[in-house]
Amino acid sequence: MVQDLKTDVLVIGAGPAGSMTAKWAAKAGARVLMIEKRQEIGSPVRCGEGMSKDWLNEVGIAPSTRWINVEVEGARIFSPSEKVLEINERHAGNEVGYVVERDAFDKQLAIDAGNAGAEILLKTAATGVIKEGGKVVGVRAKQFGEPFEIRAPVTIGADGFESQVGRWAGIPTNLALRDMDSCLQYRMTNVDCDVRYCDFYLGKVAPGGYVWIFPKADGLANVGIGVQLSQIKGMAEARQYLDAWIAKHPAYSKGKKIDVVGGGVSISPPLKQTVTDGLMLVGDAARMIDPLTGGGIANGCIAGKICGDVAARAAAAGTPSKEFFQQYEKGWRVRLEEKLYRNWLAKEKLCSLSDETFDKVVDALQGVKLEKLTVHNILKAVRDKYPEITKEFEAFI
Ligand SMILES: Cc1cc2nc3c(=O)[nH]c(=O)nc-3n(C[C@H](O)[C@H](O)[C@H](O)COP(=O)(O)OP(=O)(O)OC[C@H]3O[C@@H](n4cnc5c(N)ncnc54)[C@H](O)[C@@H]3O)c2cc1C
Repeated sequence: MVQDLKTDVLVIGAGPAGSMTAKWAAKAGARVLMIEKRQEIGSPVRCGEGMSKDWLNEVGIAPSTRWINVEVEGARIFSPSEKVLEINERHAGNEVGYVVERDAFDKQLAIDAGNAGAEILLKTAATGVIKEGGKVVGVRAKQFGEPFEIRAPVTIGADGFESQVGRWAGIPTNLALRDMDSCLQYRMTNVDCDVRYCDFYLGKVAPGGYVWIFPKADGLANVGIGVQLSQIKGMAEARQYLDAWIAKHPAYSKGKKIDVVGGGVSISPPLKQTVTDGLMLVGDAARMIDPLTGGGIANGCIAGKICGDVAARAAAAGTPSKEFFQQYEKGWRVRLEEKLYRNWLAKEKLCSLSDETFDKVVDALQGVKLEKLTVHNILKAVRDKYPEITKEFEAFI
């Protein structure tokens, strides 16, 4: 029989957001327990493995060849007729910088959490929250199938896109179909990828999303697609889109698949509420994925650091209340929310564009210097070359 446990800060889920939270709570002096339902942290991988790099220092992650495959120069955006726009790494969003070995990355963050003092239990799944007097005071869990309880003044839901912890605690976390992308990815060898770029193909090749090529090495790349769930009947249709794209591109149609992964990402604005008495949500569980790119690693880690710090202080002060947790709610919103909303608006606009308009926008931007890729300059470039479509964008901007 598994014994019931007590801790100061309980983290559900050992993804990037969970491990970051656990690390920073432990560093701030809290007794931390992180539980993970899988038997191996980081595996199986469900990720394109692209990430930006300017945030790593902020959260205390040291870049390492243990988990970096390739450092790219930037992104190439392909319009439907495959006009190309190059964007340097600094301006290309949170999936462009490194292509990583995601399982090794997740394990490294868990090692950092463990080294900071956090305890980690594998094969241990939360099955429900325990509430007393309206407050979350821990979870019911199962380890190797055996039920037990873990009690903690502060519980963190870092349980990813399919999160249940928030819903169990009474926080509205539902997503509409239009707020989700269904993703499918092959790792392919024997392909002609360019290791200098992460590539993105936009338009009706992937309704409400895009096709991505993230190079892992010469001849080896993650080739994936995200499609808005409201525009397809299911994963099988996402696969048809991806297979059709590959068939049309000789550099990839000769490739061999060595791995396939599927999964969902949210393309919604973040949750309106991410805390309640005794509980905070972080990472994908709080819908912190960038709705434009589908990248969520960076945001989960950035919020995780703030969350861990607030969790430790709440536990130490004996004040795990919704009011105290506003420090986290406000902290992560100040750091991330404006960009999340801006990118959500941009995504909404992009989803509504015809392939013809897409082509014109990318074409108009060809001559614009990357350092000057501001909204004003984008609009000016479009106005100069295609005045007939400017109106559509003026209203949006
Ligand atoms: C196909 C695909 C490609 C993607 N590509 C990229 C990319 O290139 N770049 C990028 O930045 N982002 C990408 N993302 C998004 C990225 O993977 C997530 O944003 C990121 O993993 C979020 O981290 P997290 O810690 O919030 O959640 P997760 O990494 O999902 O971690 C949650 C953890 O909680 C565990 N868990 C769940 N429920 C329980 C429970 N009840 N009890 C215990 N443990 C539990 C899970 O097993 C998991 O380990 C992609 C997503 C998909 C699906």
